[in-house]
Amino acid sequence: MDAAELSSFRLAERAPWLGRAREQMALAIGAGRLPHALLLQGQAGLGKAALADWIARLALCELPGEGPCGSCTSCRLHAAGTHPDLRRVEVAADKKQIAVEDIRELIASLTLKSYRGRRKVAIIDPADAMNASGANALLKTLEEPSGDALLILTVARPERLPATVASRCQRIKIAAPERDAALAWLAALDAATDWAGPLALASGAPVAALSLAAAGAQDLEREMLELPGQLARPEADVVGLAERCQQRLPAERLRWIENWVTERIRRGLLAPAPDHSPGNTGLPAAARRRHIQGLYEILDDARAAQAALKGSANVTLLFERLFARLARELEAVRAGRARG
Ligand SMILES: [Zn+2]
Repeated sequence: MDAAELSSFRLAERAPWLGRAREQMALAIGAGRLPHALLLQGQAGLGKAALADWIARLALCELPGEGPCGSCTSCRLHAAGTHPDLRRVEVAADKKQIAVEDIRELIASLTLKSYRGRRKVAIIDPADAMNASGANALLKTLEEPSGDALLILTVARPERLPATVASRCQRIKIAAPERDAALAWLAALDAATDWAGPLALASGAPVAALSLAAAGAQDLEREMLELPGQLARPEADVVGLAERCQQRLPAERLRWIENWVTERIRRGLLAPAPDHSPGNTGLPAAARRRHIQGLYEILDDARAAQAALKGSANVTLLFERLFARLARELEAVRAGRARG
């Protein structure tokens, strides 16, 4: 099996970091204790959508065991993508949100009788792409679930989901595997690729590392590590750098910047009062507070830029603004350290 062959379903069936969730679901279904709503929660790139699909197949399977049997009529219909008792709602390619009509349609379908005589399953992926009207419409179903319906929601950032929705679901938390385990899993798929870069870029999420490598992002980590140094130079070519960044993998670069800034904030917050401990910026306390404030603003910019990327924004301009701010901040740290 190589990366290209790794269908989403096989992934959910085999990924070791999804093992506990698989076991938990198989036990619940075996005992007839499946809740009406599940919330699969975990960072992007862990295969939550694939797991949702696996749970749906298991819940619909006519001979469920530790997993779906794979050979009953339900399993075959699911594999063909034509199971009449399964609905899936995602963000349409040209949209940013899940349309409220899609949620209403899904809710209506859940109240119908099961075609195969088992249950109805609906997947909302990702659930935080619902707008307030969609979440409200869903809330009524969560409060008064119909018969054997199973709703599966996925979310990377649960804080973006209304608490009223999240609290009515059973949470299944998915954590990224340890780095070594993730690297071993990736190497088993493709031993020729150096996975360290893509995995770091994916914040440790192996499935995201796979798509990053497929997008040719092996060198991106190394390239991005040079960025702060380039921006710190007095003659930094902000416009040129922005231009280059928007040409290739802009979303991945923004995510890298977000991770880098987050790490610096974490170090700044953890560092004790002015001293020269590792990770300390070497700034006096007041300057360090200002620096951290500046970093939070950069973080906001980086996140806003990621959101804007999905629209029709001028990407070069987004990078320029972000880099100009980052350059100013690096300069302030340098000046502060020189004074201190
Ligand atoms: Zn089956």
